[in-house]
Amino acid sequence: MSANERPKNLAINGIFDLPLDVHLHTLLSPDSAVPVDVYPALAIALGMPRIAITDHLDFDPREPGATLAPHQRRVEVVNELRRKFGDRLEILLGVEITYERAYEQDIRDHLQRHQYDLTIGSIHPGIDSPFKRSRAAIFAGSDANVTAPYFDEVLGAVESGLFDILGHADYVRKYVYPHIGTDRFEAAPELYEPFLQALVKTGTALEINSSGWRQRTGVCYPLPQAVARYKEIGGRYIVTGSDAHEPDWFALNFDRARALLLEHGFDELVTKRWERAGEHWPVPPTR
Ligand SMILES: [Zn+2]
Ligand SMILES: [Zn+2]
Repeated sequence: MSANERPKNLAINGIFDLPLDVHLHTLLSPDSAVPVDVYPALAIALGMPRIAITDHLDFDPREPGATLAPHQRRVEVVNELRRKFGDRLEILLGVEITYERAYEQDIRDHLQRHQYDLTIGSIHPGIDSPFKRSRAAIFAGSDANVTAPYFDEVLGAVESGLFDILGHADYVRKYVYPHIGTDRFEAAPELYEPFLQALVKTGTALEINSSGWRQRTGVCYPLPQAVARYKEIGGRYIVTGSDAHEPDWFALNFDRARALLLEHGFDELVTKRWERAGEHWPVPPTR
C-alpha cells in the first residue's frame, strides 16, 4: 500500500501524531495476517521512532493463541526485524497476554521464564464467557453493571502486577454493543473506579486503545471519562496502541488519542519500566 492510499486521518510523510504504537498484531496472532515487516515499514514512513509487536498469547489451551507463536519464534522474528530496520526504528519484543484469574499462576510462571521488552495484560471474553458476542443479546436493555464480572477480571490483571500495561480496559463494551450502549457505561463509573485505583497503586500503565474509534462502538477504550478520572487520582503511566490487525489500522486515530491525552493533561507517554530507564516520550503539541 502506498502512502497516498492511507486514510486521511493518518499523518504521513514523516509526521506522526504520536511517537509510538505499542499494540500491533501480525500473522503470529490467530486473528491477523499482516506480514511481520509491514508495521516497521509504515512506522518508518511516518517517522515514528518506536513500535512494539504484541501478538496474542493465551493460556486457555482451547484458544489458538495458546500455541500459534512459541516464544522463541517471537524472539527470532523481532531479531530479524531489528537487523532489517533497526537503524531507523526501535522495535520492542512485546506480547498481549489474555489475563484470567484462573490462569494467573501459569502467566506468572511464563513471565518468569521468558523475557519481553513490553507486556500488555488484556481481558478477552473467552470460550465460556457470557460476554461472547454470540451470546450478548441476552443483555439487551440491561444496565452496564451486568458486566461487573468482566471488570473484576480487569482488576485482577492490574492487581497481579504482572504487566507493564493494561490493554483496552473496557473492551467488553465491544462485545455487548449495541445491547448495552456507551451511555450505560458512562453512567457506571463504579465499574471503572477499582481498576483505575489499582493502576495507580501498582504503577501499571493505562493504554488508550484507539481501535474503539474504528469499531461500531465509536469510542476508544477505555471511555474518555475513565482517562480523565485516571488523571484525577494521580495516574501518570499511559501509552497508546492502535491494536492493528490490518495494515490500514496502524496508528489509526492517533490524532484523536493525542487530543485526548493533551485535553487531560498527559504530556508524555511513559510506563514504569521506561521511567526507570529514563525514557519519556513527549506527546507532540497539536499542530
Ligand atoms: Zn486485545
Ligand atoms: Zn490486541
